[in-house]
Amino acid sequence: MNTEQTLTGKRVWITGASSGIGEATARLLASEGAELVISARRVEKLDTLAAELQGQGVTVTVAPVDVSDRAAMAAVGEQLVALGGVDILINNAGTMPISPIINGRVDEWDRMIDVNIKGVLYAIHAVYSGMAERKAGHIVNISSIAARQTYQSAGVYGGTKHAVRAISDTLRKEAIRFNVRVTDIQPGSVATELPDSIGHDKIRSAVKDNMYAEDSPILQPRDIANGILYALSQPPYVDVSELLIRPVIQEN
Ligand code: NDP
Repeated sequence: MNTEQTLTGKRVWITGASSGIGEATARLLASEGAELVISARRVEKLDTLAAELQGQGVTVTVAPVDVSDRAAMAAVGEQLVALGGVDILINNAGTMPISPIINGRVDEWDRMIDVNIKGVLYAIHAVYSGMAERKAGHIVNISSIAARQTYQSAGVYGGTKHAVRAISDTLRKEAIRFNVRVTDIQPGSVATELPDSIGHDKIRSAVKDNMYAEDSPILQPRDIANGILYALSQPPYVDVSELLIRPVIQEN
């Protein structure tokens, strides 16, 4: 009853695996014996990662997709069924083009809502019924510290992450009867490419020159991967429902 779960032979689908947290999670879970399906839009990056891991004996399937493309996500869902379904979803793909609401960068609002909310839902939809049928599974959604509080210029981004947290907790309750576990991971600042997605020049520079500056002692992607592994490794009766991980220097 009290045994930790091992990842050996578990099939894990990771979205946003071409960089940052998703890539680090792919590496860590592969080293723990997982079989991977990796998704993102940048195919070359996925192919390079897959080749490296396959060279270490890991089974990796590359499934390039834009998570905001509903039909394409449904097609990946069918591909996953053909593989025999997935045991674990790491719902990680996201984008952060923040700006003050007064600037009215409506295309960027749409993009965040499409990728960070709809993309997360499409991925859940692709795996959840299979998990429910098998009465086993674990869905890990990557929201953010911005799912718990608000930041100026991050109204829409924070809104999407609050939504992911709310969806996660609702899904956790609904999924109990299917023996599917749900975890919402809330990273603070992590050194990744995420600030590059900021289209507002002044804000991008401010973010990259301050909290995300090269010498800033913020988290590394591996720190979040470790948190994900912790949640996945708990005994079957344990649901790590939420995990907030911030760098020591991050007050809010
Ligand atoms: P990265 O920019 O390094 O990674 C984002 C990943 O998402 C990439 O693999 C990217 O791949 C993928 N992605 C973006 N848009 C799409 C899309 N439309 N379809 C498919 N894949 C897409 O940043 P992080 O690793 O930091 O981000 C991972 C998650 O962590 C995000 O959800 C982010 O909001 C969250 N987070 C990050 C924090 C941080 O400080 N870094 C803090 C809190 C939360 P590609 O471009 O190839 O499609």
